[in-house]
Amino acid sequence: MPFYPLISKASKPHMKTPITVARGDGIGPEIMDATLSILQAAGAQLEIDEIEIGEAVYKKGTLTGIEDSAWDSLKRTKVFLKAPITTPQGGGFKSLNVTIRKTLGLFANVRPCVSYHPYVETNFPNMDLVIVRENEEDLYAGIEHRQTQDVVQSLKLISRPGSERIARFAFEYARANGRKKVTCMAKDNIMKMADGLFRKTFDEIGKDYPDIEQDFYIIDIGTARIADSPDSFDVIVTENLYGDIISDVAVEITGSVGLGGSCNIGSNFGMFEAVHGSAPDIAGRGIANPSGLILGSVLMLNHIGQNDIAAKIHNAWYKTLEDGIHTGDIYNEKLSKEKVGTLEFTKAVMERLGAKPEKFKVVDYGQGGGKGLSLPPLKPRVTQKKELAGVDIFLDWEGKPDDLAKVLNGACANGMSLKIISNRGVKVWPDGQPDTFCSDHWSCRFIGNDIDNSHIIKQLEGLKAAGLDFVKTDNLYTFNGERGYSLAQGE
Ligand code: NAD
Repeated sequence: MPFYPLISKASKPHMKTPITVARGDGIGPEIMDATLSILQAAGAQLEIDEIEIGEAVYKKGTLTGIEDSAWDSLKRTKVFLKAPITTPQGGGFKSLNVTIRKTLGLFANVRPCVSYHPYVETNFPNMDLVIVRENEEDLYAGIEHRQTQDVVQSLKLISRPGSERIARFAFEYARANGRKKVTCMAKDNIMKMADGLFRKTFDEIGKDYPDIEQDFYIIDIGTARIADSPDSFDVIVTENLYGDIISDVAVEITGSVGLGGSCNIGSNFGMFEAVHGSAPDIAGRGIANPSGLILGSVLMLNHIGQNDIAAKIHNAWYKTLEDGIHTGDIYNEKLSKEKVGTLEFTKAVMERLGAKPEKFKVVDYGQGGGKGLSLPPLKPRVTQKKELAGVDIFLDWEGKPDDLAKVLNGACANGMSLKIISNRGVKVWPDGQPDTFCSDHWSCRFIGNDIDNSHIIKQLEGLKAAGLDFVKTDNLYTFNGERGYSLAQGE
């Protein structure tokens, strides 16, 4: 199967669609010039508003890499064609990509990973999978705290609505694109609550799509399977961090990172780009492969309803590949005819606009009128009975678990009792193992019946009076009687 229209409903002739364009850093300007030339030659009806993002903006001291005026453009056009940018190391600079995804609510990252056998060398000639990555939650929320001298915490947040939306998107995407199977990947054998929620929600939403085959892999074996037999997958839906990793694995084994286009989709916005970075090592040399951004623009044209132009460009691009006109990253003496730079490759695609590939399947995206995939509303939320069962109080402390237990037992508030002490998730009291290594970060679980937040405040006061340094608390709740917190290993 060739590519991935996000939509296709009829309306013609094309009005000019306003889009925001950023040329980015490194090879960004070169591949953006190439892409815009092809879009223009193909007759794309675009009204382009250019903004500056990335290195130049970071250098002016804007830590996010994007200025307020640029947001105005994005909010107006709602469509962003973006070249890669260079994220400066350290110095408090924020990842611009993460900022844009979160600010514009781009909850789904879609990365098609297709091999172009026999024109691009790959071990997997039949590979054609799409990774749908949740884009807003998980460890990428970047909520991190150093709580003791020796321990930092990175918070993983998974929400029910976030999981529902991405699962729904994956199924709708599969349906709209004639795909047959959606595979969910997570690590619910370890993160039973967070990844368990992601998987459970996938299973639940999947019931609305009986026409689509569904399966599940634990992410580690799933990643191994992608590396070993990518052609057995169709659409994969997963959490943010896993999605980031598996999409790099998948795109690498297609043959070149320079060939991947991707899009980030939200309810009101779409951002389209190449999967690769700004490749500073080859910037300014005129040798970058512009294909990733060209294919990103094909996704954009489908999104805005210019499906016929999308197909025209995609077919011309296929034909260029078939004719053996290859940039250095995919050049192979046996398979290629001509080794070209960015400009020559761009010219070759432009010369082939209107031509059809002979070996690759001809792309037909139908007629457009796009507004992107429209998802049904979230399932109604049924309020559950939430009851407080206790609290985990984390302490910055050094010593032996039994000594800590003695102090804590003497400092229990009325109605509260010490249940367990754990250290980095392992039970160390009661009946801890002498060999368990203990850091300076202790989780002390206090429980009680018929308690409310005032008991927790009293408990904290008791600990303060005992001279203990608490660094955070996590309340323990049940929901409709079901435990809403994990047990420590060995509890
Ligand atoms: P990279 O993708 O830029 O480069 C990895 C390797 O692939 C390099 O050898 C490069 O020369 C090659 N390569 C990449 N694109 C190519 C193309 N179109 N044609 C030919 N060869 C190509 O990854 P990196 O070196 O890890 O990152 C460089 C910078 O890009 C970093 O600052 C990183 O933060 C940034 N980055 C930006 C984005 C984005 O804006 N979406 C994505 C990833 C990385």
